[in-house]
Amino acid sequence: MICSVLDIFKIAIGPSSSHTMGPMIAAGRFAAKLDSSKQLDRVALIDAEFFGSLGLTGRGHQTDRAVVLGLSGQHPSTAQPEHCRALLEAVLTTRILRVLDRHDVPFDLERHLTFHQRESLPLHTNGMRFRALDVDGSVLACEEFYSIGGGFVITAEGASTGETSTAPRDVPWPFDSGESLLHRCNESSLKIHELVLENETCWRSVAETRGALLDIWHVMETCIRRGLSTEGELPGPLRIARRAAALRRDLDSTAEHRSVDAMARLSAYAIAVNEENAAGHQVVTAPTNGAAGIVPAVLAYYAWHHDSANDDRIVDFLATAGAVGMLYKRNASISGAEMGCQGEVGVACSMAAAGLTAALGGSNEQIENAAEIGMEHNLGLTCDPVGGLVQIPCIERNAMGAVKAVNAAQLALRGNGRHHVTLDQVIATMRQTGLDMASKYKETSLGGLAVNVPSC
Ligand code: SF4
Repeated sequence: MICSVLDIFKIAIGPSSSHTMGPMIAAGRFAAKLDSSKQLDRVALIDAEFFGSLGLTGRGHQTDRAVVLGLSGQHPSTAQPEHCRALLEAVLTTRILRVLDRHDVPFDLERHLTFHQRESLPLHTNGMRFRALDVDGSVLACEEFYSIGGGFVITAEGASTGETSTAPRDVPWPFDSGESLLHRCNESSLKIHELVLENETCWRSVAETRGALLDIWHVMETCIRRGLSTEGELPGPLRIARRAAALRRDLDSTAEHRSVDAMARLSAYAIAVNEENAAGHQVVTAPTNGAAGIVPAVLAYYAWHHDSANDDRIVDFLATAGAVGMLYKRNASISGAEMGCQGEVGVACSMAAAGLTAALGGSNEQIENAAEIGMEHNLGLTCDPVGGLVQIPCIERNAMGAVKAVNAAQLALRGNGRHHVTLDQVIATMRQTGLDMASKYKETSLGGLAVNVPSC
C-alpha cells in the first residue's frame, strides 16, 4: 500500500519522530478516545509504560515530555514551542495534568511513566501502553500503540495486520517497488513527480498538493534560517555548543573555492536543521526527525544556489523524494530502532539524491540510479546516539548524508540511467542488514559510540 507524500513529509517537533512525535500522537489519540467514549470525566489517573527502544532511550528523546503534551491535547503539527514549554512547566510544578485542556488528573513524570529497560511488546520494538483508571482504581481503558518510525503510529491491531496510518486509496498509478514505479512511468509517459501528483489526487487536488509541498518547503527553509542564526548550547547533559551559526558566519566572510563552499554550505544547512531538532523545535520529518536535515539541506542547496530553481522544480524535488521514501517505508522500514541509522540517514540520503536529480532534469532511470547510490553507501550504518540524545552522531551525520546525496545525484546525472544494482535490490539489502543487526546498534544506546563516548 502506498501512503501519501504528505505522510512522508510532516510538520513535527524535535528531537525524534519515533520517540517524541509518535508517543505524543499516541497519547493524544488515547485522550481523544477517552473523550469520545464519554469516559474522560471519570478518569482519576493516567499512566503509561514504554518498552524496547522507547524504554531504553525514551527519556533522552523526551518521550516523557511528549506524552504530557499529547495528553494535554497538543499535536506535533500545530504545537507552539512557547505554549508547550509553559504546559510542561505547569505539570512539573503542580503535578497536575489538564487532559485535553479540560480535565485535571494528578501526574508525576517519575511515578506515572515507566520505562522498561528489558521488556518489549511483541509486535515492534517501539511499544507503549496507556491506561486510564477511575477513582476506585478500576481500569477504564487500556491501549497499546507502536511508533513505527517517521511519526507513524499504529495500534496493536494495525501492527498485526500490517496496516499503516494512512487510509488506503486506489491510486491511479499504484507501485510497490522501484521496478513497478519505472514501469508505471513508462506506461503513462509520466515523470516520477507527475505520477506522484496524479496519485495524490486520491486525497486532494493537484493544486492543493503543490501548495502543501511548497508549505513544507517553507517550514524547512524557516528551520534552516533559524538554525543558522541561533547560538548557544543544545539541551541535555552533553552541553554541546551549536555550530551552524558560526559556520554560516565563516562562510559569509570568506570566498572559498566554489566546490568547497558548496559542501560547507550543505553541511551548515543540515547541521542547522538538526540543531533545531535537538533543541525540540519545529522540523519536517524527511522521512524522520533524526534525519530531518538532509532533504532540506539538499533542497536549499538547489533552491538558493541554482539559477534554474523555481517553485515547480521544488515540487518536483519533494514529490520525487517522497516517492522514494514510500518505497523504503513499504518494503523495509524508516525506523532507526528496526533498521539502525541506514533506515533514517540512509533513506534520507537516497530520497534527497532522487529529489535533486529530478529537480536538475534527470530521467526517471537516472533518478532511480541516484536513489540507489544514496543508499548503497549507507548500508550497515548503525544507530548509537550518545546519552540517548539525538545529537552525537546524528547532527553531523546529516551533514555527511547531504554531501553524499549531492554526490549521488551528480554521479547519476553523468550516467545514462543503466546501472548494476537496482534500487529494489539495495532496499532489500538494507532490510536484511537491519534485521541481522544486533539490537544494541538499533536506537538502544547500548553499543557503538554510545558506550565509547561518556555522556556526562
Ligand atoms: S544515529 Fe541515526 S537513527 Fe540513530 S537517533 Fe541518530 S539520526 Fe536517528
